[in-house]
Amino acid sequence: MATPSNRYPHKDDILKIGQGLRLGVTVTSVCPFCLAHHEKSFSVTRVKNGYLYRCWRVKCDRKGVIPVISLESPKEKEFVPSQYRGELTNPPPKVFDYFREEFGLGSEILKTQQVGYNKDRNTIAFPIFDSTGRCVGIVDRAYSWMGNEREPKAITYWKEKVPMIHFPRFWNVSKSNRIVLVEDIVSANKVKHVANSGALLGTNLSEEVIKLLLDLGIHRITLAFDPDATEKALKVMKKYQGVVKITVVSMAKDPKNTGYQTLKYLLGEDNEQRAS
Ligand SMILES: [Zn+2]
Repeated sequence: MATPSNRYPHKDDILKIGQGLRLGVTVTSVCPFCLAHHEKSFSVTRVKNGYLYRCWRVKCDRKGVIPVISLESPKEKEFVPSQYRGELTNPPPKVFDYFREEFGLGSEILKTQQVGYNKDRNTIAFPIFDSTGRCVGIVDRAYSWMGNEREPKAITYWKEKVPMIHFPRFWNVSKSNRIVLVEDIVSANKVKHVANSGALLGTNLSEEVIKLLLDLGIHRITLAFDPDATEKALKVMKKYQGVVKITVVSMAKDPKNTGYQTLKYLLGEDNEQRAS
């Protein structure tokens, strides 16, 4: 429908005709001015400063330029991460005790994954690493046992324009072309000791992540999510059938709350025979 605009009549119609055009490309259409339906007399061309339009019917001959500010096709909204504040120190001993007792994560694992303590906020900071071991963000988690009742309990700070996935440090894909995907960072840091792992940090599996995994040479993915997340992930994966081998492992508890032996049995290298 035409939205009248005094300055640029039929602006919306013209923008709609020219939508998505790359620079220098022309399309033709029925003219929104004279509505001569028997021919596509109207052309719209993407030019540097906007959309050049013209009706080639002599009787109509409307022409002009609808200016647009950006040359780019509409960009995705830029994600502006909030800045992480506070100084990180080594976690106090009670933190190591908690992770050992609660999850069976020894202090050496926390140290390897450079888990830190934020004194100003009384939170635990889990660095998010990309596939090369570069820190690209932080999951900042408040624990009630530390006397911190702050909500929300976990905030993810994202620093870089990379897909939302955490690869525990000393991740080794050349060993196998397989990855186990889990939901949270603590689970990934734990599963890492039985298989290559990655955490989606509370996001749904995206095509962006799948493409990244393919770029890294991964062709086998094991999903260790809850049923809801699994269903969503399988929908996204449909397109990659035949490219990526998927196995789904349903677990009674989060991987971080599952013992190493069970993890090894369910998610380890030779799980696929059992799972498929
Ligand atoms: Zn016309």
